[in-house]
Amino acid sequence: MKDKTLIVISRHPGKQKKTFEDKLVKLLSGIDDGELLIIPHLYYLKNNFAVYEKLLPRDEVLFASWLYKRAAEWALKKELNPGKEPAIIHFNLAELNTPQKAAADIKKALKTTVKGRTKILDLSKTPVVERWYPVIDHSRCNNCGECLEFCLFGVFSKNRKKVSVEDPGKCKPGCPACSRVCARGAIIFPHYFDDKKICGADEGAK
Ligand code: SF4
Ligand code: SF4
Repeated sequence: MKDKTLIVISRHPGKQKKTFEDKLVKLLSGIDDGELLIIPHLYYLKNNFAVYEKLLPRDEVLFASWLYKRAAEWALKKELNPGKEPAIIHFNLAELNTPQKAAADIKKALKTTVKGRTKILDLSKTPVVERWYPVIDHSRCNNCGECLEFCLFGVFSKNRKKVSVEDPGKCKPGCPACSRVCARGAIIFPHYFDDKKICGADEGAK
């Protein structure tokens, strides 16, 4: 039997979207037999955080965050075992304008009747610290190793021909330099909103 679909709301890194998020939780709290998980900002999570345990047994996850879909997809996938991750549908709350619009889109994707009580698990008060590091879009990366050669701080590594972000904590905050070296546009810095390509706003494969 398939597990129920899980709805996840990843909070904004600041507090300014709390009213929007709380309203969205309220609007989603009447879904029959639904499950809603509220977590801190996805990009600040570390790989041992309990949220990944909640995602893994699922077949499907509806994931709402304040990141572009491509940034959220690869920030999340980097922590999930390839081939074992659930099907994930991403929603960028920043593009949905109102909690009502966000709730309507999420409910549409859920294909459920709206009644009953939703089981809500709020892990969003779990302390996280601000982080800055590259996220690799592996649908674009061809493991050429240019970023590995370029970075002086040992952030990247290559194992079994696959390039990955080995030590994110060594990356220099605010700098997206290696994303400009990558000819495939595969390196995302989700908070570098000055450049749409770098923050993951450009969709699709290269
Ligand atoms: S430079 Fe880009 S394509 Fe090459 S290994 Fe790094 S992320 Fe992948
Ligand atoms: S931004 Fe600079 S320090 Fe960070 S991973 Fe890229 S090259 Fe390394």
